Amino acid sequence: MNPQVSAISERLAAVRQRLAAAARLAGRDPASVRLLPVTKFQPPEKVAALLEIGENAFAENRVQDLVERATAWPQAEWHLIGPLQSNKAKAAAEHAAWIHSLDSVELCQRLGRLAAAAGRRPKVLVQVNGTGEASKSGCRPEELAEVLAAAAAEPALELKGLMTMGAVDASDEDTRAAFAKLRILRDQHAGVYPGLTELSMGMSGDFELAIAEGATLVRVGSSILGDRT
Ligand SMILES: *Cc1c(COP(=O)(O)O)cnc(C)c1O
Repeated sequence: MNPQVSAISERLAAVRQRLAAAARLAGRDPASVRLLPVTKFQPPEKVAALLEIGENAFAENRVQDLVERATAWPQAEWHLIGPLQSNKAKAAAEHAAWIHSLDSVELCQRLGRLAAAAGRRPKVLVQVNGTGEASKSGCRPEELAEVLAAAAAEPALELKGLMTMGAVDASDEDTRAAFAKLRILRDQHAGVYPGLTELSMGMSGDFELAIAEGATLVRVGSSILGDRT
């Protein structure tokens, strides 16, 4: 047996309990929040352990890593959560089931064209930079309407929702406000785009705050898998 399995399954169970408690506290059904394990920079044995435990969807930060792992484990659903450069759009279109980091009109158009050429239809989220940090990717909230329109115009992209990250070193209050802002943006645009149901927000350090503000997908790495190598 893979020696990682018991440690990882204990940590996974602990995260699931925290997730369920946060959902109940917010008056939400725990089943309405999907836990997405982030395997970026983790050794392949840990991915194998998660598969053995029964997990079947994982997130990677870099396109190249996602391509390698999606090729090694095609039975799993692979999510791209890191920034997407246009020269990597083809690989992403061909291998990612979900792309959380669309952030410009040009990228929507390019990805839509490449996905159509590959005969694929990835689920996509538009990433919003709600904290104004220059180091973060994501469109500005003022640009969101045009990016959403560009994504929705591509038949080979399935527009599912929005994604954001809390600011580094922010207070809980500020992080929560950033998550609330994403939910409000989603609600504002959901009338025009009824498929806009997902809110991808929350990581190891802040997923409970994200659940309080309506997260439907939480991306959790180190709390499940330990420190990255
Ligand atoms: C690394 C990463 C995560 C997971 O971070 P942890 O703190 O390990 O849970 C989630 N989302 C994005 C976009 C990331 O890059």
